[in-house]
Amino acid sequence: MASTSASASALLHHVRTGRARSRAELVALTGSSRNTVSARVDQLIAANLLEEGGRGWSTGGRPPTLLRFNSQAGCVLAVDLGVTSVDVAVTDLSAEILATVGHPIDIAEGPGPVLAEVDRLAQGVLAEAGLTPADVCAVGVGVPGPVEFSTGRPVHPPIMPGWHDHPIPSAFGRYDCPVFADNDVNVMALGEMGIAGSTEDVLVIKVGTGIGCGIVVDGQVYRGAQGSAGDIGHISVPPPHGEPVLCRCGNENCLEAIAGGGALLRDALAAGLPVTTTRELVQLAAHGDGPALELVRNAGRTIGTVLASLVNFFNPHRIVMTGGVAQAGPPLLAGIREAVYGRSLPLAARALDISVSAAPDLSGRLGAALMAIEGFLDEDSAYQVARADAGSIEAPTAR
Ligand SMILES: [Zn+2]
Repeated sequence: MASTSASASALLHHVRTGRARSRAELVALTGSSRNTVSARVDQLIAANLLEEGGRGWSTGGRPPTLLRFNSQAGCVLAVDLGVTSVDVAVTDLSAEILATVGHPIDIAEGPGPVLAEVDRLAQGVLAEAGLTPADVCAVGVGVPGPVEFSTGRPVHPPIMPGWHDHPIPSAFGRYDCPVFADNDVNVMALGEMGIAGSTEDVLVIKVGTGIGCGIVVDGQVYRGAQGSAGDIGHISVPPPHGEPVLCRCGNENCLEAIAGGGALLRDALAAGLPVTTTRELVQLAAHGDGPALELVRNAGRTIGTVLASLVNFFNPHRIVMTGGVAQAGPPLLAGIREAVYGRSLPLAARALDISVSAAPDLSGRLGAALMAIEGFLDEDSAYQVARADAGSIEAPTAR
């Protein structure tokens, strides 16, 4: 059998995700020698990341000692920054929320005041959970704009004035731990996938003021060469009445200029509907108002034509809709399904599941926590923990 990686972090991943429950199963799964696996498991136990407990079923001979991931070995801070509010949570290493708080902010006040507020909120949730800054292993931050993932710096974010090139990680210096920042759609996509271990291919589509797509390949977020993968809001679509529609990006006939939340509100006002915000329009549609339903269903059809192409190209298992406009639910889904199932190739569409997020308010926080946990438990970090906690133990070597 072909072997997979037997690094400490890979072994930890197998136990966390339930693929292996004992040293013997790790040996079988990785094809590595019993001695190698045992030495690295001992390291992880010394680092408090794995625990031994209980006996498994024997397949002949002595029953194996079971291994368990110790999700209490540390905690992470999860920050879900929006345009008008922020949610901050502290979770254990299985993304179980220990304490959380939400607070209004104005993202346009810039990184200084906003991140100072986040810092204050983070100290509050840590104290509420009975934890200290020293317990924090990593920080995950989702922001409503494009971010260069490797540096945690926003790149010309259209709705975050003053944030361009600001190093978000620098605001969390007191924690002396890795800080990961990414755009909110990628973070939500991680949250929708739930706890690590999924091997599905999923598109998470956020329809709010703008439209974005989180691409999950084999359970991992795919970011592309520069981190802008999934920016589907500016794909060109045919304008509904033949008249070109100008987008905030300067181009004409972008998807979000025709079917995003801002476009919906514009069209609702033009049609004389009694609404002042996109949220009110969505509520009107959810209550069955005919003209509002029709606007939302048409937006769904337009989004669906783009998704049909993405389905043909990417062949996902699932599409999950999230964001404010997705709260409209059935009329949006009806329009999307009509276009996707009507235009996608039968093989790609046959088993495709299209749904609305079951927990849109939670996925940002959960995803930020998962991003921090995955980052912390990767190769280098797991090694650092092993080294710090276990003194002279030898470093894990080749993958
Ligand atoms: Zn555009």
